[in-house]
Amino acid sequence: MYRLDDKHLEKAKEIVLSARKKKSCKVCYDRGYIGVNQQNMVVLCHKCVDAEKATEEWKKYVLENEDLKEHYSEFFEEEDENTEEEEASEEK
Ligand SMILES: [Zn+2]
Repeated sequence: MYRLDDKHLEKAKEIVLSARKKKSCKVCYDRGYIGVNQQNMVVLCHKCVDAEKATEEWKKYVLENEDLKEHYSEFFEEEDENTEEEEASEEK
């Protein structure tokens, strides 16, 4: 399983902090995240963090780091058209 490098984790924490909306939060103790998951990624505190802003900042960071880009390629694909599944109608 892909695991985020620690140096990127540190950056993620910074981003999360900068995207916080409230000053004091009991859920995350003002860290902006409630934990780190198996992929070494921060789990955002949705109570005080602007998830949209954090995501935007993270995207920018990912784009600056080639080693991250490949792992997050799906992240940037807008959900427009999925693989064209041709439904062969075999009804007669
Ligand atoms: Zn919080």
